[in-house]
Amino acid sequence: DESDDKTKKEHVNIGTIGHVDHGKTTLTAAITKYLSRNGSTVFRSYDDIDKAEEERARGITINASHVEYATANRHYAHTDCPGHRDFLKNMICGASQMDGAILVVDCNDGPMPQTTEHLLLAKQIGVKHIVVFVNKVDTASEDLKELVELEVRDMLTNFGWAGDSVPLIHGSALYALEGNQSEIGEPAIKKLLDALDTYVPAPKRDYSSPFIMPVDSVVSVSRGTVVIGTVKQGTFKKDDKAEVVGFGASFPTSISTIEVFRNAVMSAKAGDHVGVLLRQMKASNVKRGMLLAARGTLKQSNQYTGTVYFLDKSEGGRSKPVTRGYIQVLFSETWQVTARFDFEADMIMPGESAAVTITLLKDMVILPGQAFSVREGMETVASGIIHKSLE
Ligand code: GDP
Ligand code: MG
Repeated sequence: DESDDKTKKEHVNIGTIGHVDHGKTTLTAAITKYLSRNGSTVFRSYDDIDKAEEERARGITINASHVEYATANRHYAHTDCPGHRDFLKNMICGASQMDGAILVVDCNDGPMPQTTEHLLLAKQIGVKHIVVFVNKVDTASEDLKELVELEVRDMLTNFGWAGDSVPLIHGSALYALEGNQSEIGEPAIKKLLDALDTYVPAPKRDYSSPFIMPVDSVVSVSRGTVVIGTVKQGTFKKDDKAEVVGFGASFPTSISTIEVFRNAVMSAKAGDHVGVLLRQMKASNVKRGMLLAARGTLKQSNQYTGTVYFLDKSEGGRSKPVTRGYIQVLFSETWQVTARFDFEADMIMPGESAAVTITLLKDMVILPGQAFSVREGMETVASGIIHKSLE
């Protein structure tokens, strides 16, 4: 049954994206309808999905429906949002990052402005895999089918996905929801699910990239300095060359003893919570917010691009707009640094999101996709995500 699926099957987070009225919610309902046949998925009707729950992620109100379903080998958590603004908020501030997305495009309209906006943001936040459902082909001509396919593949290529090879399925979510067995009805849903199962890899811990461990705390012991944290990526062992970086400083060191719950271990890997004794490191050089990393692999910068959402008054945010050059304290993971925020527009209203260039008072390492927030005093006024560093 369902609870079995959650524990036994590989888990993947996905979501529908695309322009309003292109059929995202209908498709979501059609998927659950089709999979409810084999008993492991509960059918969720259009109306049920469309009256999305109001939820709060980092203080921000997002209307989102979380739908679960299971294929033979996988359990999917699928997010569908009712409005365009909620899609943006969910992508910028959502707690669970999408492993893949289903782009829904109405075959009669082709890509529209919100199609572009969702794709741009998906690319920026690091959604690696897109599967396309060209919808409403029950009302579109053959010529349009070809044209829209070309247009969508081109668009994906321009954004940096493998546009030529992404799975693209033509279908009718409405037909499928009605149980129609023609090629564009239920069989199209089966094709879409097969594409998700095979084309979107399940997330796995990264054990092979150069190691990074954000420093949560520092302890001075008689043998030297111990840093404590959870390994974010990679693997390290005794004697590996390392470096502690952050706040514009970097100190070379190497790994001495590694401990897990006070027991010495040979190595540490992504996901492990460890204490690491560092060689030749003054405790005063290291502080919470710095990163322990493989030597020479990280670059600090004081300029980053990102996307930021400003909370509105009802979310505890500002009542007044922010203007270009807004200066405030940026919080990310375990650190905080004063930053300046520059936008293309002169001002951003509370309740709006915008692309932003961030200039930090001190150089820091921020990885693509890393979340941040902005606080005025005790109040969180904005939440965002970093895209990349500007050199
Ligand atoms: P969303 O805003 O992207 O979630 O779009 P909806 O799922 O709410 O669909 C918008 C409208 O398009 C609704 O009236 C649906 O019934 C209709 N619709 C959705 N899929 C299809 C389809 O495959 N064929 C046709 N003809 N209409 C569809
Ligand atoms: Mg919808």
